[in-house]
Amino acid sequence: MKHYTIVGNWKMHQTPQQAATLIDRLQGTVKPHTHVTSVVCPPFVDLAAVHAQVQPDVLSVGAQNLHDEDEGAFTGEVSGPMLKGLAEYVLVGHSERRRYFHETDRLIAKKLAAAIRNGLKPILCIGENLSDRHDGHSKRVVVDQLHGALHHMSADDLGGLVIAYEPVWAIGTGEFATPSHVEPIVSVIRLTLDELFGRPASSGTEVLYGGSVDANNARSFLEMEHVNGLLVGGASLNYQSFSAIIAAAQSLAE
Ligand code: PEP
Repeated sequence: MKHYTIVGNWKMHQTPQQAATLIDRLQGTVKPHTHVTSVVCPPFVDLAAVHAQVQPDVLSVGAQNLHDEDEGAFTGEVSGPMLKGLAEYVLVGHSERRRYFHETDRLIAKKLAAAIRNGLKPILCIGENLSDRHDGHSKRVVVDQLHGALHHMSADDLGGLVIAYEPVWAIGTGEFATPSHVEPIVSVIRLTLDELFGRPASSGTEVLYGGSVDANNARSFLEMEHVNGLLVGGASLNYQSFSAIIAAAQSLAE
């Protein structure tokens, strides 16, 4: 039976009050399911209240980022030990962090290590930009990003690691990738994980697709052999869209 993980990245949206309403509506709509894990990633300021509000059999909680150090003089930052207990997952290396906050593969590798040593499940985001795609370098870019982020990890560290393939040109643009673009890239991601960690260790790592996913196109990605779920941005802010995406995964996992 295939397991799916559906992750909603709220980005810099939802005040604490708005977050409470969104969680309330989601929990009124989403049904618990053994083979589908549904995760919301609110902004840091919402995390404690969302954590207290969620029914764990319906929704899990993730953070959107963490610092690579566990504590120190880093004004405005949030560390793994602070997230522990409030979040189960954490996004690492989202393309918006790479682009606007200049996160490199080296830093992302350190953040992954911080997540793992603090018992958080990292969702490592990788994906090529538009010019990489036009130059035919999509596969090379994701393989390089995987090596850059995972080189220090051993098979023992893999428990809970999730990879999200998100072509940068498809994030927030409404231009989602076609399954024929996604399939070979997700296959090369699987192959790279196998090479790095060997099977069966790597087979437990789920690979998600992300980029302009909505309730209409979700199923076409979920049906793909090597896709174990979705990372959803804009559509996760609307409870009807996000619960419809979760319901699509649940219907395929039945
Ligand atoms: C994202 O934030 O990771 C994302 C995929 O956004 P969107 O679904 O809006 O493209």
